[in-house]
Amino acid sequence: MRVLISADMEGISGVVHPAQLSPTGADYARGRMLQTEDVNAAVEGALEGGATEVVVNDSHWVQRNILIEKLHPRARLISGSTKPLGMVQGVEEADVALFIGYHAKYGTPYAVADHTWSADCLADLRIEGRSMGEAGLNAYLCGHFGVPVAMLSGDQSLEAEAKALLPHALVAVVKRARGRWAADCLSLEEARKLIRERASEAVAGAGSLSPLAPPSPCQIEVELVTTEMADRAEAVPGVVREGGRLVRFEGADVVEAFNAFRTVMNVASLHTPF
Ligand SMILES: [Zn+2]
Repeated sequence: MRVLISADMEGISGVVHPAQLSPTGADYARGRMLQTEDVNAAVEGALEGGATEVVVNDSHWVQRNILIEKLHPRARLISGSTKPLGMVQGVEEADVALFIGYHAKYGTPYAVADHTWSADCLADLRIEGRSMGEAGLNAYLCGHFGVPVAMLSGDQSLEAEAKALLPHALVAVVKRARGRWAADCLSLEEARKLIRERASEAVAGAGSLSPLAPPSPCQIEVELVTTEMADRAEAVPGVVREGGRLVRFEGADVVEAFNAFRTVMNVASLHTPF
């Protein structure tokens, strides 16, 4: 059983503030350590559950957060960006995926760092009309490669979002968000024990899980934060302007639609006047 761990940072045990999430943040060194240790707990659990190979894909921001010198010796690490499959790079060579340190989508109340892709640019992402966050988008990408998502970790709002889309996935709730930048956190020992147990159970039972089948063709609507962003995004070939801040595009499959999505986000976030 080959396991991919996609590791984001906002849903990591003890992480509640931007200072822990950004390379320029005063608490970033601690954030990286916390992320690495949650990942190690998932690696340990995956191995207990029958994993023969574990690949960790660093999925947060610059994607060079995880400390390889502290990483579990049985895991490989995909570090850095940009990668063709983004947060789920490595899924094409996996049998099951685990999403560690994930977070709820933009606009969710009581969710640590609620956002989808970019809090600066994106107000809503809809795939075939259904609003979803990074967990949903990435679960569809995994589904394209026939890989189910068996387990996630994060706060209680991530759990609610995941359960609506992936009812059979196990969730390790390591903190209860009380606001966008506040949470009631389990002790690190308890959180890591929970991650390890859920990962073990998830990998052991992964054979009976079905992947989330993505729509094909796949239509995506993106509600941007400003009209200026939509002015730029509508210049991307294939993109249709649907409203002040709303653009739509389609791919032959979810991977093609994902590539269009990334291009739209990159163009929308530019600050050039032409
Ligand atoms: Zn992140």
